[in-house]
Amino acid sequence: MRKQTAEGDIFEPGLMPYEEALSRILAGVAAVQESELVPLERASARILHQNVVSSVNVPAYTNSGVDGYALHAADIAEDGSARLLIKDTALAGQSYRCGIVRGECLRIMTGAAVPEPLDTVVMQEHVEIEDGYIKLNYRYKAGKNVRHVGEDIKIGETVLAAGRRLTPPDVGLLASLGIREVEVRRRLKIAVASTGNEVNLPGQPLPAGGLYDSNRYSLMAALSRQDIEIIDLGILPDNVDSLLKSFNDAGSRADIIISSGGVSVGEADFTKLALHQSGQVDFWRVAIKPGRPLAYGRIGEAAFFGLPGNPVAVMVTFYFFVLPAIEKMLGITDQPIIPVFKARASEDLRKLPGRTEVQRAIISRDVSGEWQVKTAGRQGSGMLSTMSRANAFIILDHDRDRVNAGELVDVKPFSALF
Ligand code: AMP
Ligand code: MG
Repeated sequence: MRKQTAEGDIFEPGLMPYEEALSRILAGVAAVQESELVPLERASARILHQNVVSSVNVPAYTNSGVDGYALHAADIAEDGSARLLIKDTALAGQSYRCGIVRGECLRIMTGAAVPEPLDTVVMQEHVEIEDGYIKLNYRYKAGKNVRHVGEDIKIGETVLAAGRRLTPPDVGLLASLGIREVEVRRRLKIAVASTGNEVNLPGQPLPAGGLYDSNRYSLMAALSRQDIEIIDLGILPDNVDSLLKSFNDAGSRADIIISSGGVSVGEADFTKLALHQSGQVDFWRVAIKPGRPLAYGRIGEAAFFGLPGNPVAVMVTFYFFVLPAIEKMLGITDQPIIPVFKARASEDLRKLPGRTEVQRAIISRDVSGEWQVKTAGRQGSGMLSTMSRANAFIILDHDRDRVNAGELVDVKPFSALF
């Protein structure tokens, strides 16, 4: 049974639900096990291969958190008053041997070691200086303004777990442990191809009936990350032999091959034909809009994704199918793959039950601070301009029907993706 909808879409029953397609894909890929040593300068956004266990205490020694005076807390009277001789000065970076006895104090700068048995630092703003003495009149708790050895990190503590995608603070943390190089998962090698006789290189004149290749560029841009190495297979003609040759070659050098175009039921859909011959690729009609036709399988050593040809369908299938597979293959275990939150629809949205719909949208915060969402414009799967204008996807799941203005819907901000 086929149903013609108001939007003119053909709705086909019996398509594979999005979640099922995604879990089949994820079941078919495994994390790479090889690793490499990189210097910290190049460690950001790489995936940690092993747990990092600290071999040092941070801070390495007990030190002052403020500029002021280190003293014996016992020298401060019940009412907060004290008068103490300034015996000496300690600067950060010096090691200072304490000879401060009761009734005396040490002028101390932030970060300078607090020598035992001094146990408290009073801020310089809280004292008056008089004839080489400090006069304090402020109730201080013992231990105030002292940063203790190991209070941030202790020797033997696991500070970062394997599978973590290193952030800028992580890199700083590793440096603070004295680590210069870190063991990370090797980069994933991902081959990208466009297919189609009508597809042309930007920068060249466009022949009649031609269009410029945008898919390979949006994909390569999405893949431009520290943990990925791109293999550019260029534009492949609609010809079984050249497709097979290129894919088989990539299958021996890449972890993943991504192509676009040629996976629907048109007469020139040669990707399908070529892959049928290689025998390990399935063609799925997934209940997702846009992006319904999708090829998935293996070629040689590589996972193969045959994405649809339409530029927006390419982006949607990349972010909803390929990216989760990439994250699994990279061994990323510490982050949600698809962060999603709720926003209030500021207009009605059309939707049919029976397929997942991904709409290009604009999210913003209203005066009360609540997130609201509207569509970014026309949703044709070839219209990349609406995707470029959008800042989020609206995700409407399989079973739901139309959305009325004022309802909450799931949105996935592009900032979580790129
Ligand atoms: P296909 O599935 O190969 O028939 O492609 C579907 C639509 O996407 C057609 O209109 C193609 O011209 C278009 N298309 C295919 N590949 C690309 C590409 N690399 N860049 C832009 N549009 C493309
Ligand atoms: Mg084509």
